[in-house]
Amino acid sequence: MERLQKVMSQAGVSSRRAAEKIILEGRVSVNGRVVKELGSKIDPEKDELLVDGKVIKTMTDHVYFILNKPKGVISTAKDERGRKTVLDLLAKVPERIYPVGRLDNNTEGLLLLTNDGELMNSLLHPKYKIYKTYIAKVEGNPSEDKLDQLRAGIELEDGMTAPAEVYIAGTEPMKNITTLEIIIHEGRNRQVRRMCEAIGCSIKSLKRIEFAGLTLSGVHRGQYRALTAREVDRLK
Ligand code: URA
Repeated sequence: MERLQKVMSQAGVSSRRAAEKIILEGRVSVNGRVVKELGSKIDPEKDELLVDGKVIKTMTDHVYFILNKPKGVISTAKDERGRKTVLDLLAKVPERIYPVGRLDNNTEGLLLLTNDGELMNSLLHPKYKIYKTYIAKVEGNPSEDKLDQLRAGIELEDGMTAPAEVYIAGTEPMKNITTLEIIIHEGRNRQVRRMCEAIGCSIKSLKRIEFAGLTLSGVHRGQYRALTAREVDRLK
């Protein structure tokens, strides 16, 4: 028997905290009875769990993939405008998986996808400081002073960023392009683009090459692979 909010979180309904709220709101029923008590336990193998009248699959084997997302593919599960999504690239995976966070349409690189709701919630929670490495090709030649502003943390419209690691990884003087490696642990919307814009650099291309210690090694653009058991253990 397991606590109801744990089962809900593992099934990808919500975080445990949000599950508590959903329970208290009377939106959860087990074997046909509304359950409002937070201490309730259920048997994920036998009991029927419904949230807002919808059956929740409680016994899921967890699967984990990394995808090398190409540009021009949307990283939400569904797109109202019918554009290609990352799930189209993993169409052969039978489980219902979700991307852990997002990459912009125009950003390429490493995206983790899983049906492990609990791991997903913890990887996205700011308190766990999951490090992500980006390669940004920017126009021009940003000075060390400007890069120091990113290293110290920079004011964006949604507040100061945490300090970032920033290195110059290369320059293409003929094309007037500088390649930056930027490591952050926050996950705000369009954060790297906005950080670069804040120091007056426009981004020509952006790629995520590392997420929580995972790299794209051997995974070509548009391809994916399952994580090994060791990699999954390291994430937890
Ligand atoms: N930062 C961005 O600006 N875009 C992404 O897709 C990811 C991080």
